[in-house]
Amino acid sequence: DKFRVLVCGGGNGAHVMAGLAAAKPDIEARVLTLFADEADRWSESLKTNDLTILVKGSDGQPDTAIKAKPSIVSKKPEEVVPGCKMIIFVVPAFAHNQYLDAIKPYVDPKCIILGVPGPSFDYAVRGILGDKSDNVLIFETLPWACRIKEYGKEVEILGSKETILGAIQGSLSTAPIGPMGKTPVETLQYILGAAPVLHVTGHPLGITLMAAHTIHCAIMYGTWANWDGKPLDKVPLFYQGVDEATAQLMSDLSNENLTVTEGIKRKRPDVDLSQVKHVYDWFMTRYTNDVQDKSSLKTVLQTNNAYAGLKHNMLEIEPGKFVPDFTHRYLSENVPFGLAVTRGVAEVAGIETPIMDKILLWAQEKLGKEFLVNGKMQGKDIQYTRCPQAYGLTTLDDILGH
Ligand code: NAD
Repeated sequence: DKFRVLVCGGGNGAHVMAGLAAAKPDIEARVLTLFADEADRWSESLKTNDLTILVKGSDGQPDTAIKAKPSIVSKKPEEVVPGCKMIIFVVPAFAHNQYLDAIKPYVDPKCIILGVPGPSFDYAVRGILGDKSDNVLIFETLPWACRIKEYGKEVEILGSKETILGAIQGSLSTAPIGPMGKTPVETLQYILGAAPVLHVTGHPLGITLMAAHTIHCAIMYGTWANWDGKPLDKVPLFYQGVDEATAQLMSDLSNENLTVTEGIKRKRPDVDLSQVKHVYDWFMTRYTNDVQDKSSLKTVLQTNNAYAGLKHNMLEIEPGKFVPDFTHRYLSENVPFGLAVTRGVAEVAGIETPIMDKILLWAQEKLGKEFLVNGKMQGKDIQYTRCPQAYGLTTLDDILGH
């Protein structure tokens, strides 16, 4: 019997994950996609084609192609969930709740649920599946930059991360549930291949407190909070354009994450939050070969080759006139599924976060939402966020899953 894996989602990352899993001889890969007519389109394509994953060769090496066939693509959870021992969520965070509701009646309690990317995904799993699953594995980001070239038929991996950070929780963490007795983490590494290398350690909260929203939200606030509303003649650089004040704000925000971390460690010394670092130190481990000037956080952002030329997301309202796009995921995802989450965790831990509050109050207004009201995560739009309060997780034990 093959090891049965379900991929939830129908976008770029879901194509790659389903293809890589299906390419393994001892794995059966299934797909659940609830969105629009994706399941029909993908199924139709599989009748006549394999799914091809093109892997872009690095350093002038030729591209390679992996061909595979997921066994079934469906929008009906009852057709695909039963019997799956590993369910991998590869969708934007706003779609997670919908998929959790859909799979809930059919989930095997001895199944591990992965969020890729998945900072704070464990709150949604616990909030929605409750006792049905205590096994969660989350990662900070997607393993690849990838784009669908033809729906259901061809997807391209433009680049893979070298390493990604993750954390696992639950009774199956080290259980030999996978092919040839592999643990859950070994099974995912087997599916991904050599890169990225998975670094899985500590409590999931460590991943949540280290998520990239700290970088994006600080840059958005630093760049636009004092903007006079006049359209710009050119689109500013996102990372390379940061000034001293924005770099300081990012550092201060990161320090607040560390304060929250320390506060929780004092109350729960047994909880391993060792993945949480200051953002400068994170850059030093992650981009050590890409950064030219390591003298400060500002120079790190300005001279990171991996960020060269990346610009703000702007709308061209008339030819040559640009305004910021506040609907882009740097606010629309990173606030409800990032900043609001850490603010909610801080509230439960009883730690004040003036920098977070300042950025959140500005950003929620730009999004037209109310999350933080009168100093508490109690606004009317809280259910659109993944802050623990949105799932009724209001004690430290609730948050930690103890
Ligand atoms: P994507 O943009 O391909 O996801 C789109 C998919 O999400 C759709 O195909 C559909 O299945 C689902 N979806 C969209 N709207 C929906 C709705 N209203 N209701 C239900 N489902 C809906 O996503 P992706 O590129 O696979 O990325 C997944 C996550 O990884 C995102 O959070 C993204 O920000 C992140 N990420 C992506 C990349 C990349 O290169 N693709 C790189 C780093 C991080």
